[in-house]
Amino acid sequence: MSNRTTDHIRPRGVLSRMKPYTPGKPIWEVQRELGIDKVTKLASNENPIGPSPLAIQAIQSYLTDIHRYPDADTIDLCSAIASKLEVKPDQVLVTNGADELITLLSETFLEEGDEVIVPSPTFSEYEFGANLMGVSVVQVPLCEDYRYEVTDLLAAVTEKTKLLYICSPNNPTGTYMKKQDLHELMDKLPSHVLVIFDGAYSHFVTADDYSDGLELVRQGYPIIVTQTFSKVYGLAGIRVGYGIASASILHHIRQVKEPFNVNALAQIGAAAAIQDDAHLEATREINTLGRERLYESLQELGFKFTRSMSNFVLVELGPDAKSIYDQLMQKGVILRYAGAWNLPDHVRISIGTPDDHQALISALREVLKESKEEQLLSAQKD
Ligand SMILES: *Cc1c(COP(=O)(O)O)cnc(C)c1O
Repeated sequence: MSNRTTDHIRPRGVLSRMKPYTPGKPIWEVQRELGIDKVTKLASNENPIGPSPLAIQAIQSYLTDIHRYPDADTIDLCSAIASKLEVKPDQVLVTNGADELITLLSETFLEEGDEVIVPSPTFSEYEFGANLMGVSVVQVPLCEDYRYEVTDLLAAVTEKTKLLYICSPNNPTGTYMKKQDLHELMDKLPSHVLVIFDGAYSHFVTADDYSDGLELVRQGYPIIVTQTFSKVYGLAGIRVGYGIASASILHHIRQVKEPFNVNALAQIGAAAAIQDDAHLEATREINTLGRERLYESLQELGFKFTRSMSNFVLVELGPDAKSIYDQLMQKGVILRYAGAWNLPDHVRISIGTPDDHQALISALREVLKESKEEQLLSAQKD
């Protein structure tokens, strides 16, 4: 047999079992496909007011130095994060987006025979990390109204459980785990289970009984809190996330991480953004207001939705959800269809500016009107 072929090169077996990630469709792609300028993207929970101006300034002033390698230990950014969150700098690990941290956690802690507990539905990267390492995922369905049930999570734990993920507020439901429940979970879990508390949306929560999990790190529990600069700080495009945990847990992860995983512009930009309280407050304010306005519009249209503590809302559009989602896309409004979470009647809508919401609601009204007209026409034909 000729060796001038690539047909016999085989990847690892686990790859055939891995589902590809479906990102929100980018604005430029829709512009190109439809030949229209105005596209409204409410699909990826990005910051609708853009990045912190301080971050832009810091990045611009650093551009002449990009021939240098970045700081492998991200010392300045670690100390900025540490002082903001009232932890020690050695309790901070910065990564190329929180997504990289999930992969690093999987590579650091998982081996054959281990189990990972993941709520369902939730962020798909947890399952991705487990699958990548050839480890089985134990899914624990959220209970009514997508609430976390501590007893259900505890019941799923075995001697093989290595990691347990809590996403709070949860993506895509917007629901959260109450502080009291989180503490009960941490107190009852056996000590060989590392909890990963994904707080990508912590800053958007307005409920009083919420915990961002950081007090549990300070108290020495086996928990890692992950957060990101992609959402509230508006830096999704430059990829910065971080984990907060005891120095000993982070030590293991540092053994696995690439030295230059966070680029220099990302480090500089994030360190500036975390000091920008005005941008943070403005983002929270537009989100809290926008969430209420979106609820009102959805109620007027007669759609059910789940009240959210995040910067997105899970909306039940009904059996035509996929078709409505497609038609909205044709009108330049990008949402996230929830089929991949086994929620075929739902979409996830990111909170945007008042202009974004106006574009969404008027496009949605048009779609609903058009489909009603079509139904009438076909009824007349019958
Ligand atoms: C967006 C998101 C992240 C992190 O995203 P990065 O851009 O990789 O930092 C993590 N967890 C959840 C649940 C998210 O929705």
